[in-house]
Amino acid sequence: MTDFQDQRHHLLEIIKQQGVTAEEVLVALSKIDRREFVSRTFASRAYEDMALPIMAGQTISQPTIVGLMTQALKIDAVNRVLEVGTGSGFQTMVLSYLCRHVYSVERFQALANRAKQLVVDTHKRQNVSIVHADGSLGLPNAAPFDRILVTAASEDVPPTLLEQLKIGGIMVLPLGRENRDQFLMRVTKTTDKDHLYEDLGEVRFVPLLEGVRDD
Ligand code: SAH
Repeated sequence: MTDFQDQRHHLLEIIKQQGVTAEEVLVALSKIDRREFVSRTFASRAYEDMALPIMAGQTISQPTIVGLMTQALKIDAVNRVLEVGTGSGFQTMVLSYLCRHVYSVERFQALANRAKQLVVDTHKRQNVSIVHADGSLGLPNAAPFDRILVTAASEDVPPTLLEQLKIGGIMVLPLGRENRDQFLMRVTKTTDKDHLYEDLGEVRFVPLLEGVRDD
């Protein structure tokens, strides 16, 4: 147990060194045991700062990247946040400590079920809704959102997501093709027609794919 605490502390130190300085983001990260979100096969590597395989050929993001993306969103406690790509549910948990409500969308049924079990049933995060759907279409019934976080890469900013972002809202997403140069982008919707784009650096994500999967 002590051992894990040491490893968790060490991981947090790495995340800080990599530029995650927002106290509330660090506090949220410190509350979550990443070991619960990785498969048993990779449990021994849960506290390493690297992406790891999860079900359905997907990955749980690198902890530093989760921290940097969360920080880049500049979340306010009253915000309603849309997350596209629930995956393991780890990032969903982080968001749930920082905002009013998280709507997280996942195209694989198995991943959506597992994340819901862990985040909503086990950890009783009551401000989280996990939906099995194609997140590239956003979530029209719950839109508009104050913040949108996409955790799978697309070549362009999905127009539907931009439409579902409030004016003054912020979206953070990886842009670029699979296994090619990808970079993290922050899009601020300054007016109905104007957007501010900021390049936050290189990243590597699985692709944003259309349609749902029943497995
Ligand atoms: N933040 C997650 C990252 C998971 S990887 C974590 O740390 O665990 C990205 C996820 O996006 C995958 O689970 C993939 O299935 C999902 N995804 C890809 N395209 C999608 C789409 N159109 N709608 C919803 N989820 C999608």
